[in-house]
Amino acid sequence: MSAKLIAPGVWNVIPNGMAAAYLVVGETKALLIDSGAGEVDVKAVCAEITSLPIELVNTHYHGDHTAGNKDFETVYMHPADVRKMTGWTQISPIGEGFVFDLGGRQLEIIEIPGHTPGGIAIYDKDANIMFTGDTVGRKPIFLVEGDYDLDDFEATIKKLQTYGADMYGAHDMEVNRAETLENLLETLALYRAGKIEPVETSAPMAGKVYMSANGTGFICPGK
Ligand SMILES: [Zn+2]
Repeated sequence: MSAKLIAPGVWNVIPNGMAAAYLVVGETKALLIDSGAGEVDVKAVCAEITSLPIELVNTHYHGDHTAGNKDFETVYMHPADVRKMTGWTQISPIGEGFVFDLGGRQLEIIEIPGHTPGGIAIYDKDANIMFTGDTVGRKPIFLVEGDYDLDDFEATIKKLQTYGADMYGAHDMEVNRAETLENLLETLALYRAGKIEPVETSAPMAGKVYMSANGTGFICPGK
């Protein structure tokens, strides 16, 4: 079993991969949040954890979060990212306020555009846990041309500040709290003002990395 228990009934099912995915188990069903980059058979890992029916939701469309979708009949995601998807799995569009009722456990959708137009967070209010995809973290956050919007990103970070949740992302797998959000706003302001010197990176994601002294930053692939 490679999965890691991070909170009661909450597993990181890809703790050692390129991108995390999380399984939240209720009394009557479970919700899988993202499906990984393809290096792990996520469905099989989930089946070791629970025999309950599993629904799948994507925080956003990027390929390192959706490669395992092919093993599921249906995926829930925001319509603004659906247009970016090609393929195989039937899509159920969801947005702000949609609730997954897992039996004794409810997870609410919070729209967090910025990293992509259709980015969503999945919020367990009772446990004070939120799954934020690529939007929050201490690893450089991808700014992919055609996807990102810095005004939206700023508004999203300010929106997340109002929740005070423990946030789990896909690349920085440790919990993030208020300090990371403050740091991201500071880094965003510095980045926009051209006050962070970029560092060139090489494969697999060649581009420029803009890291602030506070430990948060952005990566611009292909630049
Ligand atoms: Zn992403």
